[in-house]
Amino acid sequence: MSLQEMFDVRGKSVIVTGAASGIGRAYAEVMSENDARVCLFDLDSKRLDKTVSEMKAAGGDAWGLTVDVTDRAAMSAAFAEVVRRHGRLDVVFANAGIDAGPGFLDPLGQRNDEGQIDNLDDHHWDKVIATNLTSVFNTIKLAAREMKLTGGGRIIATSSIAASYNEPIVGTPYMPAKAGVSHLVRQAAMELGRYNILVNAIAPGPFITNIADGRMANPEDRKAFTDWSVLGRVAETSEIKGVALLLASSASSYMTGSEIVIDGGVLLRPMKEA
Ligand code: NAD
Repeated sequence: MSLQEMFDVRGKSVIVTGAASGIGRAYAEVMSENDARVCLFDLDSKRLDKTVSEMKAAGGDAWGLTVDVTDRAAMSAAFAEVVRRHGRLDVVFANAGIDAGPGFLDPLGQRNDEGQIDNLDDHHWDKVIATNLTSVFNTIKLAAREMKLTGGGRIIATSSIAASYNEPIVGTPYMPAKAGVSHLVRQAAMELGRYNILVNAIAPGPFITNIADGRMANPEDRKAFTDWSVLGRVAETSEIKGVALLLASSASSYMTGSEIVIDGGVLLRPMKEA
């Protein structure tokens, strides 16, 4: 098999959730740059329209649906719409996520200043778990139902290095939500393997995105992550594209239940020792 055949995603029907910004946008771009048909899901319709227009201007087969990943009925309708338009579903990135950490604005502009566990607003707990974990379950469920009908597919969830360590910069519910995503991916891989549905996770370290009100734009947070990484820098979103293409293509045909960490070596040492 040639290199080109190995990484071929031409004509694949792809959904990316949380695709208007950051890591999800990079997933959508790499699929579209390699001639897949990509539907971008996002809550933020303005940013979604802009992203889709830019991808189309670059020659991509991209379109968008404004959908809240925590709304099961809306997600079900959106999946049906993609299948109606593309005829099938091959690759799904379950990526949308928020970090309602202390003092950060979430995508709906609500500020969470409480932070610590004894003061944590129950609403923030519920919202982060719904957005970052329950929505991944919903997405995998809808994807698996569709992929079973056509003989298989790829599901890729965005977990985080926060699934496997604890630190004060992100909010309390974020870590257990991501640990849940990592474990759910392994469970789904086990259940869906016999249907030729391969399920894997990507666990990013510090990437420059709009999450947590653009945390990486805050010099203090950026410095903490820059010092922590053994590469001495945080990541550009384009640096996730290679692994996304790997997990969506034949190049990873014997990978399921795996998690690929892309963190510039952050997990090699505890944060306070960096
Ligand atoms: P981002 O804020 O740049 O992008 C997230 C996108 O998801 C936004 O466009 C937002 O509108 C959308 N979104 C949020 N809630 C939604 C909902 N309910 N329904 C639909 N869309 C919704 O953030 P990002 O950093 O690119 O985050 C993408 C994923 O990567 C998240 O799961 C995040 O936890 C994970 N992650 C990010 C980092 C990092 O350093 N940036 C590190 C580890 C993991």
